[in-house]
Amino acid sequence: MDYLTLAQAYEKIEATSKRLEMTDMLVELFRNVPESEIEKVVLLTQGKLAPDFAGQELGIAEKLALKAIYEATRVNETDIQKLWLKEGDLGTVAYEAVSRRKQTSLFTDTLSIGMVFDSLVQISSASGSGSQDLKLKLLAKLMHDSSPVEAKYIARTLAGKLRLGIADMTLVDALAITFATKQDRDRVELAYNTCSDLARVAKLLAGKGLSGLSEIELEVGIPLRAMLAERLPGIPEILDKLGGKAAFEYKYDGLRIQAHIKGEGVQLFTRQLEDVTGQFPDLVDILKVAFKGKSGVLEGECVPVDINTGEMLPFQTVSRRRGRKYELTSAVDEFPVMLYLFDCLYLNGKDLTQTPYTNRRKKLISCISEADRVKLAEVLVTSDADEAEAFFQKVIGKGGEGIMAKSLADDSFYKAGSRGWHWIKFKRDYKSEMNDTVDLAVVGGFSGRGKRAGRYGALLMATYNRDEGRFETVTKLGSGFDDDFLAALPELLDPHLVKKPHRLVNSAMQADFWFEPSLVLEVKGAEITLSPTHTCAWELVRKGSGLAIRFPRYTGKVRQDKAPEDATTSEEMLALYNLQAK
Ligand code: ATP
Repeated sequence: MDYLTLAQAYEKIEATSKRLEMTDMLVELFRNVPESEIEKVVLLTQGKLAPDFAGQELGIAEKLALKAIYEATRVNETDIQKLWLKEGDLGTVAYEAVSRRKQTSLFTDTLSIGMVFDSLVQISSASGSGSQDLKLKLLAKLMHDSSPVEAKYIARTLAGKLRLGIADMTLVDALAITFATKQDRDRVELAYNTCSDLARVAKLLAGKGLSGLSEIELEVGIPLRAMLAERLPGIPEILDKLGGKAAFEYKYDGLRIQAHIKGEGVQLFTRQLEDVTGQFPDLVDILKVAFKGKSGVLEGECVPVDINTGEMLPFQTVSRRRGRKYELTSAVDEFPVMLYLFDCLYLNGKDLTQTPYTNRRKKLISCISEADRVKLAEVLVTSDADEAEAFFQKVIGKGGEGIMAKSLADDSFYKAGSRGWHWIKFKRDYKSEMNDTVDLAVVGGFSGRGKRAGRYGALLMATYNRDEGRFETVTKLGSGFDDDFLAALPELLDPHLVKKPHRLVNSAMQADFWFEPSLVLEVKGAEITLSPTHTCAWELVRKGSGLAIRFPRYTGKVRQDKAPEDATTSEEMLALYNLQAK
């Protein structure tokens, strides 16, 4: 299949913000893709060259990319540079330069999807001596053979900024409709949640239909998408919901880690499925000793600790270690971590996700010898609300953020990738007026005044409407920013500047700057109110009103572990509003 067909489809998709329209366009596209190319098409459409856990990074130095565009088009270098400074988007620069190309050579190749994909892989993986020349040559060749629209999407893909705004769940819907039926979307989602690889799911569907998905099994080394928790306002409600008895676990505040162990091999993944094995050599060593099985997949929370006092430290300390550029060994000493394990999803060749919590906990106990730096999550199994409340108070007293209640029911399975009532979180914050902190995506910004003149003064924050795949504004955030954070904002936000509200952002408010949703911040507010100026959960409570957070405050936590689509949803916001109303 020609890459041009794909690029033209992207142009159409990019022009809509309606999820159903996007799905239809994707179905039309997938129907025409040969089976042998469906994997590449799905990956390219996600703006990736491999699933997240494979760690195939995209990206190219802008100088090199501009040079390649020049070599391919011979459009005046200064003009190219000017365009770049004005647009800040390699895609637009490539599009313009190729459109202005003086003459088209007779020796251009028609770009196939395979050629583009393979070249992108080669460019992204080239390293060592001579790699710059190779990258330049390969990209210049691609640009040389491209039409303007192809050049635009190739450049954006390579820059890691395809920005089509297609949520994974929209792709799941489209794959189900194309290769099975709409009713089969849950089966397709299950397969995706198990292997975290939509391209693989697509290939099996295209080749063997729905039955092909039975080949997807939990495997050591391939992370599954994390199970998530619901929330309730009180312990009696939680006990009620869970049938009168539950396991209450300590809720640690750190970085969620999924550990895959086979023999001497240990791999660690985050909740975003990023492979962080290299950043936690100490955890790898600890697990090699503590794990007694042959193979296993365990989940836990990695928490920074003060080795002198044994006290848990704030979550941010782990992120400091993660971003560390200098020698890792010093970071390992400076920011030591503990691992608190809370689940066992696979042990010695057996998938345990379809077994109840109690069994998984037993398996976890059986395969781990606790040591200084690795422990099992503290747990209390009870049907007594007072006892659970005392446990909660104990956790809070130790500086914990709350508890996680887990169902003991026969069907309390590990539901990868989904939020459900088998896990219910209960945090200290629920006891204040606005229940819980929320994680919001930055979609706009306002110029600072007074002390903040010349900087961003406030940010327009949004929830994610999962049904529509759009971001809805919920508050204007200006407090809780310290000097360091204000100074860091341009670096965090400027790469995502867009000229008008991003097409996936639904805002009734005017901002001075607009951003493609990317940065997610944790926010605590005083209460949730109805508001005519914010679009969150629009008209779900009252006509002409959305929901807004009053007196929002940044907690100091950048949710690096969350993509914008993982922000608090508008539906969750509505549930929080209803909890508060009670
Ligand atoms: P989400 O509900 O989307 O996960 P979040 O990341 O803000 O939002 P939290 O409110 O922090 O979620 O609660 C869920 C997280 O709590 C889990 O992802 C996990 O990292 C952490 N956690 C800590 N202790 C436990 C535990 N004992 N069992 C399960 N999860 C735990």
